[in-house]
Amino acid sequence: MTKSSVFKKYNVPGPRYTSYPTVPYWTTTPTETQWVDCVREALREAAQRSIGAAMYVHIPFCESLCTYCGCNTRITRNRKVGTPYVDTVIREWKLYFDKLGGSGKIPLGELHLGGGTPTFLEPEELERLINGLMAFSTRTPEAEFSLEADPRVTTEAHLQTLARLGFTRLSLGIQDFDPKVQEAVHRVQSIEQVARSTEQARAHGYKSVNYDLIYGLPFQNEQSIERTVAAVRDLRPDRIAFYSYAHVPWIKPGQRRFTEADLPGGDQKRALYELGRSMLEEAGYREIGMDHFALESDSLWTASRDGSLHRNFMGYTSRQVSPLIGLGVSAIGDSWTAFAQNEKVLETYQARVEKGELPILRGHVLDEEDRVIRRHILNLMTSLKTDWNDASLAVPYLDVVPEKLAELERDGLVCLSKSSCEVTEEGRPFLRNICMAFDARLARLSPSTRIFSQTI
Ligand code: SF4
Repeated sequence: MTKSSVFKKYNVPGPRYTSYPTVPYWTTTPTETQWVDCVREALREAAQRSIGAAMYVHIPFCESLCTYCGCNTRITRNRKVGTPYVDTVIREWKLYFDKLGGSGKIPLGELHLGGGTPTFLEPEELERLINGLMAFSTRTPEAEFSLEADPRVTTEAHLQTLARLGFTRLSLGIQDFDPKVQEAVHRVQSIEQVARSTEQARAHGYKSVNYDLIYGLPFQNEQSIERTVAAVRDLRPDRIAFYSYAHVPWIKPGQRRFTEADLPGGDQKRALYELGRSMLEEAGYREIGMDHFALESDSLWTASRDGSLHRNFMGYTSRQVSPLIGLGVSAIGDSWTAFAQNEKVLETYQARVEKGELPILRGHVLDEEDRVIRRHILNLMTSLKTDWNDASLAVPYLDVVPEKLAELERDGLVCLSKSSCEVTEEGRPFLRNICMAFDARLARLSPSTRIFSQTI
């Protein structure tokens, strides 16, 4: 089979598996008490391993809407919204602190500001936010603080303030440098803006800079990808995420600015990825898991070598820090045994925190099968192999997995035994399809559906 026909055969939408079960299959929302108990237990285990918790803080505000965006955002130019939002997030963390009822401050091994646009907040507001959160937390010696930033609104004062507060990792949204593509996706930013933020971050001691790129955007072609990746290569970020664009105009009406005819389809889209990948590899970047690249000097690459690579709602991380506590509107927490997502409407989120409630909207308490399958999907996503030789990693559903993957094995994408699965280098682009074979909840919903014709 040619590369192109293999791609055509397995080119179907599938989950990114930043969680298992994936969000549409969550069925059992934890009560506040259950969730707090799960977090407390995970904190106890984290203390035994001296790793601390991870904290994700969602800042939803953006000045304008990028049409490819899949995040929970509030588009506004009104800067007055920042201060009350910071107050609510600090109050939410205080609620956790009180309800967990521990004797001391909560150790953090990771803190990540995401959005939205964290640097929509003024530097002083960010400082108040971090100081407010740290009033109930301590940093573990290995702690890493990171943020996502939009180069169009990020100033040196933002980067300097956060560096002073211990932030050492920066992730910049780039997507594409081509003016026509930028116009179509409503995100116009120059190479100079990105270069400036990168240089300022390095000057203030940030030790890792990540760029997010997207392939499959409207009007992208081989020339535009070549120019974008060449510019990225010259700026030399430590990490690069190279995501596939998802066209869902019925969910994101902003995507009606262009039509499907403007999008690179099928083979062409894959060719854009292959081109970007080969340029990055030539420039010394190593492919990690799915859609990610890193320099050999970056801890993500080291983690992928020594088996400590982890994946959560924020993508790949260099170690497993647990529990993940999500603060802010729509933020998701993960204790490994349960997920909890906050209210997605800003006003509802704020009102519930004001009332003294953890603002949980929905979630899922994992049963035993979920936890086992989750481990296998995480193994595949991070080290491209898994096995269930050990009884503690076997559940009855896994008996059908080799059969579900038989066709992928014939196509050279996996190597199978009765109780193991290893992804070949040719199979790496099809990691989602392979994980879908392990997805018991997906299979139960539509047992007759073959994994390569499944759509989500
Ligand atoms: S700046 Fe980021 S979060 Fe805001 S709309 Fe654009 S992509 Fe979405």
